[in-house]
Amino acid sequence: MQVVRHLSIPGMGEVYFNKQPYHLTISENLQQHYSFDPAGRLLTSYLNGVNYRRGLNNAVLRREQIDTDGKTRRMLSADEIEALIADIRARVVSITEHVQYSELTDLLPWLHAILDWDYPRLCQEHERFRGIYKPISILPPDQYQAVVLQAAEGCSWNRCTFCTLYRDRAFRVKSPDDFQLHIHQVKDFIGEAIGLRKSLFLGDANALIMPQPRLLELLRITNEEFPIGIRRAGGSTFQGIYSFLDIFGAERKTQHDYQALQALGVKRIYVGLETGDQELFTLLNKPGSPQACVEAVHMIKQAGIAVGIILLAGVGGATLATQHVAHSIACVTAMDLAADDLIYVSLLVLSGMEAYTQQMHAIGTRALTQSELSQQVSILKKGLRAVYVGGPKVSLYHIEEFIY
Ligand code: SF4
Repeated sequence: MQVVRHLSIPGMGEVYFNKQPYHLTISENLQQHYSFDPAGRLLTSYLNGVNYRRGLNNAVLRREQIDTDGKTRRMLSADEIEALIADIRARVVSITEHVQYSELTDLLPWLHAILDWDYPRLCQEHERFRGIYKPISILPPDQYQAVVLQAAEGCSWNRCTFCTLYRDRAFRVKSPDDFQLHIHQVKDFIGEAIGLRKSLFLGDANALIMPQPRLLELLRITNEEFPIGIRRAGGSTFQGIYSFLDIFGAERKTQHDYQALQALGVKRIYVGLETGDQELFTLLNKPGSPQACVEAVHMIKQAGIAVGIILLAGVGGATLATQHVAHSIACVTAMDLAADDLIYVSLLVLSGMEAYTQQMHAIGTRALTQSELSQQVSILKKGLRAVYVGGPKVSLYHIEEFIY
């Protein structure tokens, strides 16, 4: 039930309070907003036309609409985070002074909890996070609010030329005991705010490649710790388990294996196809092939699990652009996707991709200009929407927007 109350505060105006089981949102004149979890940690804010989202690791993403079709996105520096926290705390101090003489005194415990989180204490949360998780390099956009469980760490392949996401760690599958301990640490760290999260994401890059008996054991533990489909005390429900899978791993599973995953709550598997063009796929050193990917997707879907297909716009540069687009649309078309599947078009990020850049230089291609890249995204999206009328949602995947 939504309960919004308000208070007139001299110098501040009308201040609104939306108290929910898992978050408190405060709004000044319905123009400046900030929200906090039940422990009092900042979740999001909207101040002077700028959105801020704080991650569990105390990173803060800044997003600002610059014109009708553009947004700027960047992570705040440590100094900027400190200034933001100080600004919001000063606002909450003023609000608390007035709330204590009002009829809203039931809000005081939450407001005092917020004031307990100054910048140094939030920095300690960063250290705590690092003790529980390896860096969470990326998630699919619809899973940014999942509870991430690192059943495995890293990528079992780690050799695609355009990807450096997991180069900082060796691939490792957790033992059942390690995984159980990890889950207990995650629950303790997120606390009651876990009620804001409605899905479970099994990390890292391809946890599903682990041997099936171990995978089933870790999924059983996940089910015991987070009952799926059962309404929790605050009203939210875990809808299921989600994970990435590269094609290399997909080739090793049978339909029966996928059915067992489905029976244990796996709802969607995200497959990084990147391109449907065999020449470019090989050049990128992706494991498997586009055709193997199509076959794996058919098998996954026949087992009753949805898929999320990820394409990479801009990859292959100008020389391979035409074949990348044509073969990617053809490949995704061959997957026979349905309305519960998803298609993401992600944008190639060149910074830090020396191996890929040298490779493209060697074949004599050049990076797409910004306008060519926008055009390629548009052609991919239009082409896929034309194939799948009323079918899977086709969306842009802004990896620079990712924060956990
Ligand atoms: S399989 Fe995926 S995570 Fe691993 S290196 Fe390739 S793109 Fe990166």
